[in-house]
Amino acid sequence: MSLSADELIEDLGRFVTESPSSYHAAEVTAQRLSAAGFTRLSEQQDWPAQPGRYVVVRDGAVLAWILPDDAAATTPLRILGAHTDSPGFKLKPKSTVISHGWVQAGTEVYGGPLLNSWLDRELRLAGRLVTRDGATHLAATGPVARIPQLAIHLDRQVNEGLKLGKQQHTTPVLGLAGSSEAAAEADVLAVIAAAAGVEASEVDGYDVVVADSQTPARFGAQHEFFASGRLDNLSSVYAGLQGLLDAAENGTGGMIPMLAAFDHEELGSASRSGAAGPFLEEALGRIYEALGATAAQRAQALAGSWHLSSDAGHAVHPNYSERHDPANRPLPNAGPLLKINANQRYTTDAPGAAMWAQVCRAAGIPSQEFVSNNDIPCGSTIGPITSTRLGIRTVDVGIPLLSMHSAREMCGVDDVAHLRSAAAAFFSAELTV
Ligand code: ZN
Repeated sequence: MSLSADELIEDLGRFVTESPSSYHAAEVTAQRLSAAGFTRLSEQQDWPAQPGRYVVVRDGAVLAWILPDDAAATTPLRILGAHTDSPGFKLKPKSTVISHGWVQAGTEVYGGPLLNSWLDRELRLAGRLVTRDGATHLAATGPVARIPQLAIHLDRQVNEGLKLGKQQHTTPVLGLAGSSEAAAEADVLAVIAAAAGVEASEVDGYDVVVADSQTPARFGAQHEFFASGRLDNLSSVYAGLQGLLDAAENGTGGMIPMLAAFDHEELGSASRSGAAGPFLEEALGRIYEALGATAAQRAQALAGSWHLSSDAGHAVHPNYSERHDPANRPLPNAGPLLKINANQRYTTDAPGAAMWAQVCRAAGIPSQEFVSNNDIPCGSTIGPITSTRLGIRTVDVGIPLLSMHSAREMCGVDDVAHLRSAAAAFFSAELTV
């Protein structure tokens, strides 16, 4: 089922569209793996000790792994780590706001979105609702909302520098409150509850985000670019998912391949489903206990393990080239980035760079380096967090984007195929480092 670059990008578009929230991303990943024979586990039950393929979801995070027939107490892991969340907006309590005849959705900013990129787009609501009976419902609407920009006639200075107040200027409109009946129809919670097939009055709690509704699309003189929301970081989740499916199909031995996609990276990862939380550590504890590992054997296994922390990075922006390092200038379609930072905002070190070089040679793909301009410190990833928690050797990589944290980011079509090939090679290659 090896997909061509064209098929992959189309499928990534589907994956992103089906994953408007982190909860959807985790669930869609688990469903695709279940369809390929992975067994869905619950954290509240015993986990089987025998070899097999397993997947477990915790809120907006998902772990999936293959326990090969030759797995033993000291068998190391190869973990591809990523995150399921993206910056944007989340519904506040009392989410229906009536203002000057309009119905608006009360929202809170989630993470660090490029606020201006969210203007004048038709937006969806998506997330999870918990009803009175305790059941969780994933739900997503079609286009129902928009954050309209002020007309230039009412703000003649706007092109001198747009200033958006996070509270005052980013509240989406969703309907008209002309009559009380119309207001009731446009009740924000009722809109998402209807998409879930439940009554709003039944909803006891919700985690609902706002997502762009525009279909992902290829563009460029040679159709070499891809525009979509949430490429940071569903591009990595998708590549890891495809790599794990390849490993399941082709067999694996001598290590435990694992996909670990966490929530809340955009907030710093500190949550029970974030990379700073215990999800991965607890799962590894259960896996190695099932293999009969002593604490020393488990430490031995982790010492021989690798974590490929994959998160989108930056291509050089031709209009702002002075913001980038003068020597390292990554471009789309020239391979994934190996992300390097002297201050450990990325984990990559010499052995890690060598491991990545071996993976890229095995995959037959190019790679390029990313490092920041000294005057503009870079962001960080889950890499330093998990390596600090678990001590597993970690390398930071990811595909280059422009417009990171925009409602609609862009990447190179070939880079998605490159990263998927790298993930497959990471899960199968003999490494000598
Ligand atoms: Zn990211």
